[in-house]
Amino acid sequence: MIRMSDVFKEYENGTKALKGVSFELQSGEFAFLVGPSGSGKSTIIRLLIGEIAPSDGTVIVNGQDMDNIKMRKMPYLRRTIGVIFQDFRLIENKSVYENVAFAMHVIGASKKDIRQRVPYVLELVGLEFKAKAKPDELSGGEQQRVAVARALVNNPKLIIADEPTGNLDPARSLEILTLLKKINELGTTVLVVTHEKPLVDHFHQRVIAIDGGRIISDAMDRYYDYEGQ
Ligand code: ADP
Repeated sequence: MIRMSDVFKEYENGTKALKGVSFELQSGEFAFLVGPSGSGKSTIIRLLIGEIAPSDGTVIVNGQDMDNIKMRKMPYLRRTIGVIFQDFRLIENKSVYENVAFAMHVIGASKKDIRQRVPYVLELVGLEFKAKAKPDELSGGEQQRVAVARALVNNPKLIIADEPTGNLDPARSLEILTLLKKINELGTTVLVVTHEKPLVDHFHQRVIAIDGGRIISDAMDRYYDYEGQ
């Protein structure tokens, strides 16, 4: 879950990126976060994953107040969050299987757990037959599905996807979003940052729209058409 309450963020150079942002995403919910470039979407993501701290207000993720979290506790919190990026960020010289297994290895999972869990998530994303392939042998859509499997493998409570379809054609984009929705239906909370209006419209989900560091709309199945203004 996510709870942002009256969050302000001013960067060191004086840029006011967020000007009183409040929203909640309950456990098990799915939402899109939309807004034009420079509106504050990345700042929200960086606050949620603990990369930066708010100037004012509170950010609570999976029950943990990000401002009061002790540095030594941060790795544990980060394990409860899976992040998916636009540019996939796979390790080029590792196979599909190894890329996903590595995410479990770094948090100290046992070999037995890795052997059980990795095939399960590869099957979930439809890549069980590509386990041995290297990223450069895969299409963009397949690479993003590896990144989804990697984000999922440690069974996070929350998945944050930052423009996950930015490098994909419309058909592959639809596939990735369908996959994220399926993962949500299996119980994971999902927040997807995107500005692809047709995709957002297709799914009829909650849409949180931000502009100029403020939430300007938060409603089911409504995309605030900022480009048309
Ligand atoms: P978006 O992800 O919606 O494009 P950002 O959160 O990246 O928006 O940016 C919001 C505002 O904060 C913009 O005006 C941007 O220029 C500014 N900004 C982002 N990161 C920094 C930074 N590290 N230092 C100073 N200003 C920043």
